[in-house]
Amino acid sequence: MSAPLLTVKAVHKRFTRKPGLVTQGIDRLTGRQSGSTVHALSDITLSVDPGEVLGLVGESGCGKSTLGRIISGIYSPSDGHVFLDGEPVAAVYGDTVKKLTTEVQMIHQDPFASLNPRMKVGETIAEGPRVHGLLKPKEALNRVRSLLEKVGLEGAYADRLPHQFSGGQRQRVAIARALAMEPKLLVLDEAVASLDVSIQAQVLNLFMELRKELDLTAVFISHDLSVVRHVCDRVAIMYLGRIVELATAAELYQNPKHPYTKALFGSIPTLGTGRANFQPIKGEIPSPLNPPKGCAFHPRCPMAGPRCKVELPTLRPSKEGGAHVACHLNDGGTGITEAA
Ligand code: SF4
Repeated sequence: MSAPLLTVKAVHKRFTRKPGLVTQGIDRLTGRQSGSTVHALSDITLSVDPGEVLGLVGESGCGKSTLGRIISGIYSPSDGHVFLDGEPVAAVYGDTVKKLTTEVQMIHQDPFASLNPRMKVGETIAEGPRVHGLLKPKEALNRVRSLLEKVGLEGAYADRLPHQFSGGQRQRVAIARALAMEPKLLVLDEAVASLDVSIQAQVLNLFMELRKELDLTAVFISHDLSVVRHVCDRVAIMYLGRIVELATAAELYQNPKHPYTKALFGSIPTLGTGRANFQPIKGEIPSPLNPPKGCAFHPRCPMAGPRCKVELPTLRPSKEGGAHVACHLNDGGTGITEAA
């Protein structure tokens, strides 16, 4: 078995908001503390093998994009470690930041915002490899044309500006720009969320073709389980900064185990008997400023019992094997029903 390309070990991320100068003065006089801390990620451990695509799924605010940014080196973790190909990513800041910026490439949700509106797309695609010495100026045009063709666009489009493309075409340009760096790992953050459904399918098909051709390794971040299904080998379901279920895509879609995963599936509209049938998840995702004690999902969980309100469930292998689940229902003979 090959070593994982990406390893995330016990990663936590906290964002602290400092109060303004006046409030700081009042705090000093009164002994009060007005700063607030958002617990964006808590105890995240996972790995991605070479050639594998891992999905990160959850509602907005679950921490999936923060995790993507930590993997990409945009944020540093508050605690814990990230290793890329065996090398600690934390040590990359400073001296070898150049190395990380070439090895991990992120594709964002809004391609229009991530492309320079005044730069021809050919220059945008060639800029990264040129700056990092991966491409000689005389090779640039041929390389740009071949990348544009690889993502299903004409090579002649290199002379166009971003506003001359449709949304789907702009996302293809963003993919070409990321591939130009020949990265070890791609991080796609809601990469198709802003596109129409038919265009989404085209971009996903393109990703699947490129994945096969280039043996890509990727972290695919999405709020949409129906998108992830066709793209990912394994899926991590996140809720309020923690992984609550981690399973192969086949297993997750066939037999979801965590109540939150089941609720996510229930909230996907389906056209079964001729009328739309879906059950939105009850309640709101709680504030990460003040997460609930015990299992963070308990205020919304139909299976919650007294134990859930006081004891945090840990991610461990499911009773039935295969998936890893963080739920007291998975806890042998001391499940929630008994505790309740
Ligand atoms: Fe629901 Fe309790 Fe499981 Fe949390 S631990 S998901 S509240 S049953």
